Amino acid sequence: MRELLEDTAQRAISYLDGLGSRRVAPSAKAIAELAKLDEPLADKLTTAEQTIELLDEVCSPATMAMAGRRFFGFVIGGALPVTLAANWLAGAWDQNSGLYTPTPATARLEEIALDWLLDLFNLPAECGGAFVTGATMANFSALAAARHALLKRAGWNVEADGLFGAPPIKVIVGAEAHPTLFKSLGLLGLGRNRVYRVPVDSAGRMRADALPPLSGPTIICVQAGNVNTGAFDPFAEICERAHAADAWVHVDGAFGLWATTSAATLRLTSGLANAHSWATDFHKWLNVPYDSGLALVRDADALRAAMAITAEYLPTSSFRNPSDFTPELSRRARGVEVWAALRSLGREGVTELIERNCRQARRFAEGLVAAGYKVLNDVVLNQVLVSFGDAETTNRVIAAVQTDGTCWCGGTVWQGQTAMRISVSSWATTDTDVERSLDAIVRIARKHSD
Ligand SMILES: *Cc1c(COP(=O)(O)O)cnc(C)c1O
Repeated sequence: MRELLEDTAQRAISYLDGLGSRRVAPSAKAIAELAKLDEPLADKLTTAEQTIELLDEVCSPATMAMAGRRFFGFVIGGALPVTLAANWLAGAWDQNSGLYTPTPATARLEEIALDWLLDLFNLPAECGGAFVTGATMANFSALAAARHALLKRAGWNVEADGLFGAPPIKVIVGAEAHPTLFKSLGLLGLGRNRVYRVPVDSAGRMRADALPPLSGPTIICVQAGNVNTGAFDPFAEICERAHAADAWVHVDGAFGLWATTSAATLRLTSGLANAHSWATDFHKWLNVPYDSGLALVRDADALRAAMAITAEYLPTSSFRNPSDFTPELSRRARGVEVWAALRSLGREGVTELIERNCRQARRFAEGLVAAGYKVLNDVVLNQVLVSFGDAETTNRVIAAVQTDGTCWCGGTVWQGQTAMRISVSSWATTDTDVERSLDAIVRIARKHSD
Protein backbone atom coordinates (compact mmCIF):
# COMPACT_ATOMS: atom_id res chain seq x y z
CA MET A 1 0.00 0.00 0.00
CA ARG A 2 2.77 2.44 0.92
CA GLU A 3 4.41 2.04 -2.48
CA LEU A 4 1.14 2.54 -4.32
CA LEU A 5 0.26 5.68 -2.41
CA GLU A 6 3.76 7.12 -2.68
CA ASP A 7 3.84 6.43 -6.41
CA THR A 8 0.43 8.07 -6.81
CA ALA A 9 1.52 11.11 -4.82
CA GLN A 10 4.57 11.40 -7.11
CA ARG A 11 2.33 11.22 -10.15
CA ALA A 12 0.03 13.90 -8.74
CA ILE A 13 2.98 16.15 -7.91
CA SER A 14 4.44 15.72 -11.42
CA TYR A 15 1.04 16.55 -12.87
CA LEU A 16 0.79 19.75 -10.85
CA ASP A 17 4.41 20.67 -11.64
CA GLY A 18 3.67 20.37 -15.33
CA LEU A 19 0.61 22.62 -15.32
CA GLY A 20 2.58 25.85 -15.77
CA SER A 21 4.16 24.75 -19.03
CA ARG A 22 1.40 22.72 -20.73
CA ARG A 23 -1.45 24.04 -22.81
CA VAL A 24 -4.51 24.72 -20.68
CA ALA A 25 -7.00 22.78 -22.80
CA PRO A 26 -6.13 19.16 -23.59
CA SER A 27 -5.02 18.46 -27.14
CA ALA A 28 -7.27 16.67 -29.60
CA LYS A 29 -4.71 13.86 -29.58
CA ALA A 30 -4.91 13.49 -25.81
CA ILE A 31 -8.70 13.37 -26.00
CA ALA A 32 -8.55 10.77 -28.78
CA GLU A 33 -6.27 8.63 -26.60
CA LEU A 34 -9.14 8.24 -24.13
CA ALA A 35 -10.29 5.51 -26.53
CA LYS A 36 -7.73 3.32 -24.74
CA LEU A 37 -10.21 3.19 -21.87
CA ASP A 38 -12.87 1.58 -24.05
CA GLU A 39 -12.54 -2.00 -22.95
CA PRO A 40 -14.97 -4.49 -21.52
CA LEU A 41 -15.03 -4.97 -17.77
CA ALA A 42 -12.14 -7.32 -17.03
CA ASP A 43 -12.88 -10.78 -15.68
CA LYS A 44 -9.67 -10.91 -13.73
CA LEU A 45 -7.93 -8.67 -11.28
CA THR A 46 -5.55 -5.96 -12.52
CA THR A 47 -3.01 -4.71 -10.02
CA ALA A 48 -3.60 -1.40 -8.34
CA GLU A 49 -0.28 -0.14 -9.79
CA GLN A 50 -1.36 -0.94 -13.35
CA THR A 51 -4.73 0.68 -12.78
CA ILE A 52 -3.19 3.91 -11.50
CA GLU A 53 -0.63 3.87 -14.30
CA LEU A 54 -3.39 3.66 -16.91
CA LEU A 55 -5.33 6.42 -15.18
CA ASP A 56 -2.35 8.74 -15.11
CA GLU A 57 -0.94 7.98 -18.54
CA VAL A 58 -4.22 8.12 -20.44
CA CYS A 59 -6.25 10.58 -18.41
CA SER A 60 -3.85 13.16 -16.98
CA PRO A 61 -3.03 14.57 -20.46
CA ALA A 62 -6.75 14.69 -21.31
CA THR A 63 -7.65 16.90 -18.37
CA MET A 64 -8.34 20.62 -18.58
CA ALA A 65 -5.71 22.46 -16.53
CA MET A 66 -8.32 23.87 -14.15
CA ALA A 67 -5.89 23.50 -11.28
CA GLY A 68 -3.40 25.64 -13.16
CA ARG A 69 -2.64 29.33 -13.28
CA ARG A 70 -4.24 30.45 -16.51
CA PHE A 71 -7.69 28.90 -16.48
CA PHE A 72 -10.26 31.71 -16.50
CA GLY A 73 -13.46 29.83 -17.30
CA PHE A 74 -16.66 29.42 -15.26
CA VAL A 75 -15.63 31.41 -12.13
CA ILE A 76 -13.77 28.46 -10.66
CA GLY A 77 -10.53 28.44 -8.78
CA GLY A 78 -7.91 25.76 -8.33
CA ALA A 79 -7.12 23.96 -5.11
CA LEU A 80 -4.79 25.59 -2.61
CA PRO A 81 -1.98 23.10 -1.83
CA VAL A 82 -3.07 22.91 1.82
CA THR A 83 -6.60 21.94 0.74
CA LEU A 84 -5.36 19.22 -1.59
CA ALA A 85 -3.15 17.88 1.21
CA ALA A 86 -6.10 17.99 3.63
CA ASN A 87 -8.21 16.23 1.02
CA TRP A 88 -5.63 13.42 0.80
CA LEU A 89 -5.51 13.01 4.56
CA ALA A 90 -9.29 13.13 4.92
CA GLY A 91 -9.49 10.59 2.09
CA ALA A 92 -7.27 8.29 4.13
CA TRP A 93 -9.50 8.81 7.17
CA ASP A 94 -12.52 7.78 5.07
CA GLN A 95 -14.99 9.20 7.57
CA ASN A 96 -18.67 8.98 6.78
CA SER A 97 -19.35 12.40 8.24
CA GLY A 98 -23.11 12.43 8.61
CA LEU A 99 -23.18 12.10 12.37
CA TYR A 100 -21.14 13.51 15.22
CA THR A 101 -20.71 10.47 17.45
CA PRO A 102 -18.96 8.13 14.99
CA THR A 103 -16.92 10.93 13.35
CA PRO A 104 -16.18 13.55 16.00
CA ALA A 105 -13.05 15.00 14.36
CA THR A 106 -14.63 15.84 11.01
CA ALA A 107 -17.89 17.00 12.62
CA ARG A 108 -15.95 19.37 14.88
CA LEU A 109 -13.91 20.73 11.96
CA GLU A 110 -17.12 21.63 10.13
CA GLU A 111 -18.57 23.26 13.21
CA ILE A 112 -15.44 25.36 13.70
CA ALA A 113 -15.22 26.27 10.01
CA LEU A 114 -18.87 27.34 10.13
CA ASP A 115 -18.21 29.70 13.06
CA TRP A 116 -15.20 31.18 11.29
CA LEU A 117 -17.17 31.69 8.07
CA LEU A 118 -20.01 33.50 9.81
CA ASP A 119 -17.42 35.76 11.38
CA LEU A 120 -15.62 36.24 8.06
CA PHE A 121 -18.82 37.08 6.15
CA ASN A 122 -20.16 39.20 9.02
CA LEU A 123 -23.33 37.16 9.26
CA PRO A 124 -25.30 36.36 12.43
CA ALA A 125 -23.57 33.80 14.67
CA GLU A 126 -26.85 31.90 15.17
CA CYS A 127 -27.09 30.84 11.52
CA GLY A 128 -27.40 27.17 10.72
CA GLY A 129 -25.09 25.87 8.02
CA ALA A 130 -24.89 22.95 5.61
CA PHE A 131 -21.68 21.85 3.91
CA VAL A 132 -22.97 20.62 0.57
CA THR A 133 -21.66 19.92 -2.92
CA GLY A 134 -21.90 23.42 -4.33
CA ALA A 135 -24.08 26.46 -4.79
CA THR A 136 -26.80 24.49 -6.59
CA MET A 137 -27.37 22.32 -3.52
CA ALA A 138 -26.74 25.26 -1.21
CA ASN A 139 -29.53 27.19 -2.93
CA PHE A 140 -31.68 24.06 -2.75
CA SER A 141 -31.01 23.60 0.99
CA ALA A 142 -31.57 27.24 1.94
CA LEU A 143 -34.74 27.41 -0.15
CA ALA A 144 -35.99 24.21 1.50
CA ALA A 145 -35.60 26.01 4.83
CA ALA A 146 -37.48 29.00 3.39
CA ARG A 147 -40.27 26.72 2.13
CA HIS A 148 -40.51 25.11 5.56
CA ALA A 149 -40.63 28.40 7.47
CA LEU A 150 -43.14 30.15 5.22
CA LEU A 151 -45.54 27.21 5.12
CA LYS A 152 -45.23 26.55 8.84
CA ARG A 153 -46.30 30.13 9.38
CA ALA A 154 -49.29 29.41 7.15
CA GLY A 155 -50.15 26.35 9.25
CA TRP A 156 -48.80 23.75 6.82
CA ASN A 157 -46.17 21.04 7.44
CA VAL A 158 -44.54 20.67 4.06
CA GLU A 159 -42.07 17.94 5.06
CA ALA A 160 -44.92 15.75 6.29
CA ASP A 161 -47.67 16.63 3.85
CA GLY A 162 -45.92 17.78 0.69
CA LEU A 163 -46.92 20.64 -1.54
CA PHE A 164 -50.23 19.31 -2.96
CA GLY A 165 -52.91 21.43 -1.32
CA ALA A 166 -50.42 23.71 0.40
CA PRO A 167 -50.85 27.47 0.38
CA PRO A 168 -48.97 28.78 -2.68
CA ILE A 169 -45.58 30.40 -2.26
CA LYS A 170 -44.75 33.27 -4.57
CA VAL A 171 -41.16 33.14 -5.82
CA ILE A 172 -39.49 36.30 -7.10
CA VAL A 173 -36.17 36.22 -8.96
CA GLY A 174 -34.06 38.67 -10.91
CA ALA A 175 -34.13 38.35 -14.71
CA GLU A 176 -30.45 37.36 -14.61
CA ALA A 177 -30.63 34.76 -11.83
CA HIS A 178 -28.17 31.88 -12.30
CA PRO A 179 -29.65 28.99 -14.33
CA THR A 180 -29.04 26.56 -11.47
CA LEU A 181 -31.32 28.57 -9.20
CA PHE A 182 -34.24 27.48 -11.38
CA LYS A 183 -33.12 23.89 -11.08
CA SER A 184 -33.14 24.21 -7.28
CA LEU A 185 -36.64 25.69 -7.41
CA GLY A 186 -37.76 22.84 -9.63
CA LEU A 187 -36.40 20.20 -7.25
CA LEU A 188 -38.32 21.85 -4.41
CA GLY A 189 -41.65 21.72 -6.24
CA LEU A 190 -41.65 25.50 -6.47
CA GLY A 191 -41.30 25.28 -10.22
CA ARG A 192 -38.67 26.48 -12.64
CA ASN A 193 -41.15 28.65 -14.53
CA ARG A 194 -43.76 29.72 -11.97
CA VAL A 195 -41.54 32.60 -10.85
CA TYR A 196 -41.99 36.34 -11.10
CA ARG A 197 -38.99 37.78 -12.94
CA VAL A 198 -37.93 41.25 -11.91
CA PRO A 199 -36.30 43.28 -14.68
CA VAL A 200 -32.63 44.18 -14.26
CA ASP A 201 -30.63 47.31 -15.01
CA SER A 202 -27.77 47.72 -17.47
CA ALA A 203 -25.34 45.94 -15.09
CA GLY A 204 -27.65 42.96 -14.52
CA ARG A 205 -28.82 44.13 -11.08
CA MET A 206 -32.40 43.48 -10.01
CA ARG A 207 -34.38 46.74 -10.08
CA ALA A 208 -35.79 47.25 -6.59
CA ASP A 209 -38.31 49.73 -8.01
CA ALA A 210 -39.68 46.95 -10.25
CA LEU A 211 -40.50 44.50 -7.43
CA PRO A 212 -44.15 43.40 -7.55
CA PRO A 213 -46.44 44.13 -4.59
CA LEU A 214 -45.55 41.68 -1.80
CA SER A 215 -48.24 39.74 0.02
CA GLY A 216 -48.66 36.19 1.28
CA PRO A 217 -45.85 33.60 1.56
CA THR A 218 -43.06 34.99 -0.63
CA ILE A 219 -39.41 34.15 -1.35
CA ILE A 220 -37.23 36.75 -3.05
CA CYS A 221 -34.04 35.33 -4.55
CA VAL A 222 -31.34 37.94 -4.93
CA GLN A 223 -27.82 37.60 -6.21
CA ALA A 224 -24.38 38.56 -4.92
CA GLY A 225 -22.19 38.34 -7.99
CA ASN A 226 -23.86 38.19 -11.40
CA VAL A 227 -22.18 35.33 -13.24
CA ASN A 228 -21.49 37.55 -16.23
CA THR A 229 -20.83 41.00 -14.81
CA GLY A 230 -20.08 40.29 -11.14
CA ALA A 231 -22.78 42.84 -10.18
CA PHE A 232 -24.69 42.79 -6.89
CA ASP A 233 -28.43 43.26 -6.41
CA PRO A 234 -29.54 46.17 -4.16
CA PHE A 235 -29.94 44.09 -1.00
CA ALA A 236 -30.70 46.92 1.41
CA GLU A 237 -33.74 48.18 -0.49
CA ILE A 238 -35.03 44.71 -1.30
CA CYS A 239 -34.63 43.48 2.27
CA GLU A 240 -36.45 46.51 3.61
CA ARG A 241 -39.42 45.84 1.31
CA ALA A 242 -39.30 42.15 2.18
CA HIS A 243 -39.19 42.67 5.94
CA ALA A 244 -42.24 44.91 5.81
CA ALA A 245 -44.14 42.09 4.07
CA ASP A 246 -42.67 39.15 6.03
CA ALA A 247 -41.10 37.80 2.85
CA TRP A 248 -37.98 35.60 2.90
CA VAL A 249 -34.88 36.92 1.14
CA HIS A 250 -32.37 34.38 -0.13
CA VAL A 251 -28.97 35.43 -1.48
CA ASP A 252 -27.21 33.38 -4.15
CA GLY A 253 -23.64 34.40 -3.41
CA ALA A 254 -21.78 31.54 -5.08
CA PHE A 255 -18.71 33.71 -5.53
CA GLY A 256 -19.99 37.18 -4.62
CA LEU A 257 -20.35 36.46 -0.89
CA TRP A 258 -16.55 36.59 -0.74
CA ALA A 259 -16.71 40.30 -1.54
CA THR A 260 -17.61 40.79 2.13
CA THR A 261 -14.03 39.87 3.06
CA SER A 262 -12.41 42.94 1.50
CA ALA A 263 -12.86 46.59 2.47
CA ALA A 264 -12.55 47.42 -1.23
CA THR A 265 -15.65 45.42 -2.23
CA LEU A 266 -17.62 45.45 1.01
CA ARG A 267 -19.80 48.34 -0.15
CA LEU A 268 -21.16 46.13 -2.96
CA THR A 269 -22.68 43.86 -0.32
CA SER A 270 -24.43 46.57 1.67
CA GLY A 271 -27.62 45.20 3.25
CA LEU A 272 -26.71 41.60 2.45
CA ALA A 273 -26.69 40.61 6.12
CA ASN A 274 -30.38 41.56 6.36
CA ALA A 275 -31.38 38.53 4.29
CA HIS A 276 -32.69 35.23 5.73
CA SER A 277 -30.41 32.79 3.92
CA TRP A 278 -27.30 32.68 1.79
CA ALA A 279 -25.59 30.22 -0.52
CA THR A 280 -21.94 30.18 -1.51
CA ASP A 281 -19.27 28.00 -3.02
CA PHE A 282 -15.93 26.98 -1.61
CA HIS A 283 -14.71 25.34 -4.82
CA LYS A 284 -14.91 28.67 -6.60
CA TRP A 285 -13.15 31.45 -4.75
CA LEU A 286 -11.84 29.73 -1.63
CA ASN A 287 -9.97 27.36 -3.96
CA VAL A 288 -10.75 24.02 -2.36
CA PRO A 289 -11.23 20.75 -4.30
CA TYR A 290 -14.66 19.87 -5.75
CA ASP A 291 -17.30 19.52 -4.70
CA SER A 292 -17.87 22.04 -1.96
CA GLY A 293 -20.41 24.73 -1.10
CA LEU A 294 -22.34 26.11 1.85
CA ALA A 295 -25.92 27.00 2.75
CA LEU A 296 -26.43 29.44 5.62
CA VAL A 297 -29.82 30.04 7.22
CA ARG A 298 -30.48 32.62 9.92
CA ASP A 299 -33.27 30.45 11.36
CA ALA A 300 -31.17 27.33 12.00
CA ASP A 301 -34.27 25.45 13.18
CA ALA A 302 -35.93 25.93 9.79
CA LEU A 303 -32.94 24.35 8.05
CA ARG A 304 -32.87 21.51 10.54
CA ALA A 305 -36.61 20.94 10.20
CA ALA A 306 -36.23 20.68 6.43
CA MET A 307 -33.25 18.32 6.53
CA ALA A 308 -33.06 16.25 9.71
CA ILE A 309 -34.09 12.62 9.69
CA THR A 310 -34.77 10.34 12.59
CA ALA A 311 -34.33 6.60 12.61
CA GLU A 312 -33.95 4.10 15.40
CA TYR A 313 -30.50 2.95 14.41
CA LEU A 314 -29.05 6.45 14.20
CA PRO A 315 -27.36 7.57 17.39
CA THR A 316 -28.75 10.79 18.81
CA SER A 317 -26.42 13.28 20.40
CA SER A 318 -26.42 16.73 21.84
CA PHE A 319 -23.61 17.57 19.41
CA ARG A 320 -24.02 18.99 15.94
CA ASN A 321 -24.75 16.23 13.45
CA PRO A 322 -23.72 17.55 10.01
CA SER A 323 -26.51 15.58 8.33
CA ASP A 324 -29.19 17.31 10.42
CA PHE A 325 -28.59 20.23 8.09
CA THR A 326 -27.79 18.61 4.72
CA PRO A 327 -29.79 16.75 2.07
CA GLU A 328 -27.38 13.78 2.40
CA LEU A 329 -26.91 11.35 5.27
CA SER A 330 -23.69 9.59 4.25
CA ARG A 331 -21.30 12.27 3.11
CA ARG A 332 -17.60 12.92 2.77
CA ALA A 333 -15.99 15.31 5.22
CA ARG A 334 -15.84 18.23 2.83
CA GLY A 335 -15.54 20.75 5.66
CA VAL A 336 -12.01 19.51 6.37
CA GLU A 337 -10.60 21.25 3.30
CA VAL A 338 -12.55 24.40 4.11
CA TRP A 339 -11.17 24.40 7.63
CA ALA A 340 -7.64 23.86 6.26
CA ALA A 341 -7.95 26.76 3.81
CA LEU A 342 -9.22 29.14 6.49
CA ARG A 343 -6.76 27.91 9.13
CA SER A 344 -3.88 28.39 6.75
CA LEU A 345 -4.87 31.62 4.98
CA GLY A 346 -6.31 33.41 7.97
CA ARG A 347 -8.47 36.46 7.50
CA GLU A 348 -5.69 38.38 5.77
CA GLY A 349 -4.91 35.56 3.37
CA VAL A 350 -8.54 35.29 2.26
CA THR A 351 -8.74 39.05 1.75
CA GLU A 352 -5.47 39.07 -0.17
CA LEU A 353 -6.69 36.32 -2.50
CA ILE A 354 -9.95 38.13 -3.24
CA GLU A 355 -8.28 41.50 -3.72
CA ARG A 356 -5.51 40.08 -5.91
CA ASN A 357 -7.99 38.39 -8.26
CA CYS A 358 -10.10 41.56 -8.46
CA ARG A 359 -7.00 43.61 -9.28
CA GLN A 360 -6.00 41.05 -11.92
CA ALA A 361 -9.47 41.27 -13.47
CA ARG A 362 -9.14 45.06 -13.67
CA ARG A 363 -5.73 44.62 -15.32
CA PHE A 364 -7.28 42.34 -17.96
CA ALA A 365 -9.96 44.96 -18.65
CA GLU A 366 -7.44 47.78 -18.83
CA GLY A 367 -5.16 45.83 -21.20
CA LEU A 368 -8.02 44.86 -23.48
CA VAL A 369 -9.38 48.39 -23.65
CA ALA A 370 -5.86 49.71 -24.37
CA ALA A 371 -5.65 47.23 -27.25
CA GLY A 372 -8.88 48.67 -28.69
CA TYR A 373 -11.43 46.06 -27.57
CA LYS A 374 -14.70 46.72 -25.82
CA VAL A 375 -15.21 45.68 -22.19
CA LEU A 376 -18.95 45.38 -21.69
CA ASN A 377 -19.17 45.44 -17.91
CA ASP A 378 -18.08 47.66 -15.09
CA VAL A 379 -15.39 45.43 -13.54
CA VAL A 380 -16.54 45.62 -9.92
CA LEU A 381 -15.30 42.16 -8.97
CA ASN A 382 -13.44 39.35 -10.78
CA GLN A 383 -15.48 39.15 -14.01
CA VAL A 384 -14.55 40.72 -17.34
CA LEU A 385 -16.75 40.59 -20.44
CA VAL A 386 -14.98 41.52 -23.64
CA SER A 387 -16.27 41.82 -27.18
CA PHE A 388 -13.94 41.60 -30.16
CA GLY A 389 -16.51 42.95 -32.61
CA ASP A 390 -19.61 41.17 -33.90
CA ALA A 391 -20.77 37.84 -32.49
CA GLU A 392 -19.06 35.83 -35.20
CA THR A 393 -15.70 37.52 -34.70
CA THR A 394 -15.93 37.21 -30.92
CA ASN A 395 -16.77 33.52 -31.16
CA ARG A 396 -13.87 33.00 -33.56
CA VAL A 397 -11.48 34.67 -31.14
CA ILE A 398 -12.79 32.61 -28.20
CA ALA A 399 -12.28 29.37 -30.14
CA ALA A 400 -8.76 30.44 -31.16
CA VAL A 401 -7.86 31.41 -27.57
CA GLN A 402 -8.99 27.99 -26.38
CA THR A 403 -7.01 26.21 -29.11
CA ASP A 404 -3.90 28.32 -28.56
CA GLY A 405 -3.75 26.98 -25.01
CA THR A 406 -1.89 29.81 -23.26
CA CYS A 407 -5.05 30.39 -21.25
CA TRP A 408 -8.70 29.31 -21.32
CA CYS A 409 -11.74 31.59 -21.35
CA GLY A 410 -15.34 30.76 -22.14
CA GLY A 411 -17.99 32.56 -24.11
CA THR A 412 -21.31 34.02 -23.08
CA VAL A 413 -24.21 36.02 -24.40
CA TRP A 414 -25.08 38.81 -22.00
CA GLN A 415 -27.98 41.17 -22.59
CA GLY A 416 -27.91 40.24 -26.27
CA GLN A 417 -24.17 40.74 -26.70
CA THR A 418 -21.72 37.93 -27.43
CA ALA A 419 -18.65 38.16 -25.24
CA MET A 420 -15.66 36.31 -23.97
CA ARG A 421 -15.83 35.96 -20.21
CA ILE A 422 -12.67 36.16 -18.13
CA SER A 423 -13.16 35.03 -14.53
CA VAL A 424 -10.15 35.45 -12.32
CA SER A 425 -10.62 33.17 -9.33
CA SER A 426 -7.47 31.14 -8.80
CA TRP A 427 -4.97 31.33 -5.95
CA ALA A 428 -2.30 30.25 -8.46
CA THR A 429 -2.67 33.07 -10.99
CA THR A 430 0.28 35.46 -10.84
CA ASP A 431 0.50 38.91 -12.38
CA THR A 432 2.93 37.42 -14.90
CA ASP A 433 0.24 34.90 -15.90
CA VAL A 434 -2.16 37.77 -16.47
CA GLU A 435 0.31 39.61 -18.72
CA ARG A 436 1.12 36.43 -20.62
CA SER A 437 -2.57 35.65 -21.11
CA LEU A 438 -3.37 39.22 -22.09
CA ASP A 439 -0.58 39.16 -24.71
CA ALA A 440 -1.92 35.90 -26.11
CA ILE A 441 -5.52 37.14 -26.24
CA VAL A 442 -4.56 40.40 -27.95
CA ARG A 443 -2.26 38.61 -30.42
CA ILE A 444 -5.03 36.14 -31.30
CA ALA A 445 -7.73 38.82 -31.47
CA ARG A 446 -5.63 40.94 -33.88
CA LYS A 447 -5.16 37.97 -36.14
CA HIS A 448 -8.84 36.98 -36.13
CA SER A 449 -10.51 40.33 -36.25
CA ASP A 450 -9.17 41.77 -39.49
C1 LIG B 1 -21.59 28.73 -9.98
C2 LIG B 1 -22.85 29.35 -9.56
C3 LIG B 1 -23.93 28.56 -9.14
C4 LIG B 1 -23.90 27.05 -9.19
O1 LIG B 1 -22.87 26.57 -8.37
P1 LIG B 1 -22.38 25.04 -8.39
O2 LIG B 1 -21.30 25.07 -7.39
O3 LIG B 1 -21.88 24.81 -9.78
O4 LIG B 1 -23.51 24.19 -8.02
C5 LIG B 1 -25.06 29.20 -8.69
N1 LIG B 1 -25.14 30.54 -8.68
C6 LIG B 1 -24.13 31.34 -9.09
C7 LIG B 1 -24.27 32.83 -9.02
C8 LIG B 1 -22.95 30.77 -9.54
O5 LIG B 1 -21.93 31.53 -9.94
